[in-house]
Amino acid sequence: MAKPRPRKLKDVDPELTAYLDIDELKAIGGDEYNIKTMSPNTEVPPCVECGGPTENHGKFDKILIDIVSVDRRKQFARLHYYFYKYRCLNKVPGHENCNALFQKQVGFVSSENAKITRRYEDEVMRLAMYESLTDVRKDMKSYIVKGHQKDLISKPAMSKVIKRWVEEKDAHRVFISPAALLMYTYHSSVNDFIVVADVEPHSPCRIIEVIPTVTEAAIRSFLAKIDIGGLLAIVVDCNPILYETVKDIVPRSKVMVDTDSLRRVLRDEFKIFIYERLKRYQKYVRELFLAGPDAQALISNEDRAKMRRLQKNDEGLENAYSAYAGLYVLLQKHRDISELTSWKEVLNETNQSTFVLTTSYMETYIEELARYRQGAHPKEGDSIYDEIYSLNQKIESYFPISTDEVFRARMLYSDFSKSIDKKWQGIDVSELKSIIDNMIKTGGLEEHER
Ligand SMILES: [Zn+2]
Repeated sequence: MAKPRPRKLKDVDPELTAYLDIDELKAIGGDEYNIKTMSPNTEVPPCVECGGPTENHGKFDKILIDIVSVDRRKQFARLHYYFYKYRCLNKVPGHENCNALFQKQVGFVSSENAKITRRYEDEVMRLAMYESLTDVRKDMKSYIVKGHQKDLISKPAMSKVIKRWVEEKDAHRVFISPAALLMYTYHSSVNDFIVVADVEPHSPCRIIEVIPTVTEAAIRSFLAKIDIGGLLAIVVDCNPILYETVKDIVPRSKVMVDTDSLRRVLRDEFKIFIYERLKRYQKYVRELFLAGPDAQALISNEDRAKMRRLQKNDEGLENAYSAYAGLYVLLQKHRDISELTSWKEVLNETNQSTFVLTTSYMETYIEELARYRQGAHPKEGDSIYDEIYSLNQKIESYFPISTDEVFRARMLYSDFSKSIDKKWQGIDVSELKSIIDNMIKTGGLEEHER
């Protein structure tokens, strides 16, 4: 068989190549919609199996749907991609000949069987981060070049792309043995999940995993990937499933319960009470009580007088509020945890039922709460628990309900500024916060990128 001669690079169309804008490819002809392209690297490579010599096995081509930008407007295009296959010539005495048949690895597609480019897949993913697949398709309709409706892939095809995209990202993760882990649950209106963050001393807190369910099996399977022996501390919230499972796997002396998460339980219980007790009042009055003592300084004298008046006429309200405010301060100001026990002693019977979860968690986790307080030395008003909680709340309220994959991708992989990172080691909480804020503000994408 005559060896096919590679197209010479003198055929390169520089203008079309710039327009194609894929680092590893040169355009060798065509137009803005049909782009003929190949890799400028036409060297015959060593065998991928054995490293032996190979020969050119022939030229092949395939068509891939891509997305290019024309005057900052995106549109679909077809890449006519030309490539070579190579066959190994290595003859090993006493063994079968290698004979491996392969093509060079390229980065602009995610697999040899892909029908769309990675750039196309990324676009689906970027849009799916903040809108439903129906809306993704609606948005991408504007990319269609007249007469080529089929370039827009179907919803099921998009779902597959998303699944594969997230799996690939997951595969690039490296779980270095962390010194300390945080595991916080979150209950949204549709699902429960666990956010896992790595807290190395002297470096920013990074989210390294989102477990899309709160079950013993899921927690166990995550912890199996972590070097438990090297772990100095693991901080959990008050969720009993999480606490019990972690305590079963990690030595109890390393388990801590975040006092800020108990403050959240306290607040949630008091919220139920105050919304019932003051249901005939305006929402803002109820929120005044709920705000917590740290926010009291911001309350006007008039409102403060109103709060006092209400308490004067309602002993139950006065008692509950004083119990709430008392523990809130204890938990927030990072005082000696032994004071918690005295808080419980002053609770009257009505309050005990109002704060039934708070009290029961406090009793069960008292050692772990104390250990957290001793070990963590958190700065006042700088609660990583609150930061992650409010991130979860934002995602829940601003973005549509999604599959577990999209949901995890929003938390873990929404930073598109980094291309395929071989060693993904988590995303800074503060970085994610600004990405999510930007997604909310701009609808997820810069206007010119849409
Ligand atoms: Zn070989």
